[in-house]
Amino acid sequence: MKAEILSVGTEILLGDIINTNAHYLSKELALLGISVYRQTTVGDNEERLLDAIRSALKDCDMIVATGGLGPTTDDITKETAAKALGKDLYIHEPSLARIKGYFRDSARAMTAGNEKQALFPKDAYILENDNGTAPGCIMTNEKGQSIIVLPGPPKEMVPMFENKVKPYLEKYLDSTIISKSLKVIGLGEWDMASRVRDIITDSENPTVAPYAKDFESLLRVTAKAEDETSCRALIDPVVAKIKERIGEYIYGEDDDTIEKVVGELLIRNNLKFACAESVTGGMIASRMLSYEGGMSRVFDEAFVTYSNESKTRYLGVEEGILKRHGAVSEETCHAMAKGLLENTGASVGLVTTGIAGPEGGSPEKPVGLVYIGVNMKGTIKVFRHVFPGDRNRIRSRATVSALGHLRT
Ligand code: ATP
Ligand code: MG
Repeated sequence: MKAEILSVGTEILLGDIINTNAHYLSKELALLGISVYRQTTVGDNEERLLDAIRSALKDCDMIVATGGLGPTTDDITKETAAKALGKDLYIHEPSLARIKGYFRDSARAMTAGNEKQALFPKDAYILENDNGTAPGCIMTNEKGQSIIVLPGPPKEMVPMFENKVKPYLEKYLDSTIISKSLKVIGLGEWDMASRVRDIITDSENPTVAPYAKDFESLLRVTAKAEDETSCRALIDPVVAKIKERIGEYIYGEDDDTIEKVVGELLIRNNLKFACAESVTGGMIASRMLSYEGGMSRVFDEAFVTYSNESKTRYLGVEEGILKRHGAVSEETCHAMAKGLLENTGASVGLVTTGIAGPEGGSPEKPVGLVYIGVNMKGTIKVFRHVFPGDRNRIRSRATVSALGHLRT
């Protein structure tokens, strides 16, 4: 099954908007097992749009078009798609009634252009729009090729794809598709993939694909079968195999975030938390507090101890240690972690010290060197990392990595 994504809109060609629709659809279609053969963008111009549709129909089984479903005369996607398939348009009464209802509810005046939004070929499959006026539709020809026409605004397009198109495609492809994401901290995408390389190569159903996102890595396991139970039965043994291999780096699944996993761990065990950040300068505290599941019960306090003096004043780090070993050292990190619990009421402490650059590196202590200290009720562990990237990538990586260490 091959598809072409057709983005319609002069604004995209002018660079006024970013084509996030094509990005979203490419990912979603891949998950459904539909390979995207080409992405095309055309302006609001009938002749060129017709050309694009015809050439897509030469190469693909399916076109997924977005944009140009609005009420104005430059919105011509549906009309042009129907023309390419040799279909006439008629008012679809249920859609017209819905559009009228939409205007009644929002107390706005309906225009003649809005009536045109209810025009469809007789045999089209209508995609109701729960977030706007323009319904989408799926048109098919006698060869079984289809054109899926969706609105341009992502607020309308994404829910329509998720709730209307996906179920249609699953039925059409005669299968259910389910995926599970395993979220990984502590292994880069390449490192993670090479440890499970054989599982990735040997798996056809489910497929296993590595991704990198927001300084974390993830493995997506996707199965296709007749129903959800069969999908799960395919996914579970592969997930178990992956966990055997890299389980210690997997902190969660699907919608889990590291702050949620760590936050819940603290709340469940009623552990008071504090942190003292040098190189991450508040990013850990901010990230932890972004979790909305009741952090006030466990989050005690946070320090940004950036200067040596501050490390001494708030954490009691001896000047001698700082002088002998430097602020970025295992010894200082250890002393920060120790002092943090001694000076607060917390029972879990997290500290960072490092060199984010661009200046300040040396052969022994390069830019990117970060020490992360965890103090768990007096048991202190210090982890040494050298992170790649510019200043803020190093700081972000250190933040994610520190939260990852907190979990263990
Ligand atoms: P409208 O009823 O708003 O006219 P439409 O279906 O006709 O919707 P367009 O006119 O093509 O769609 O685009 C409307 C808006 O939707 C654009 O201004 C833009 O904000 C957004 N949009 C359109 N296409 C894309 C795209 N490919 N990626 C991201 N956003 C898009
Ligand atoms: Mg429009």
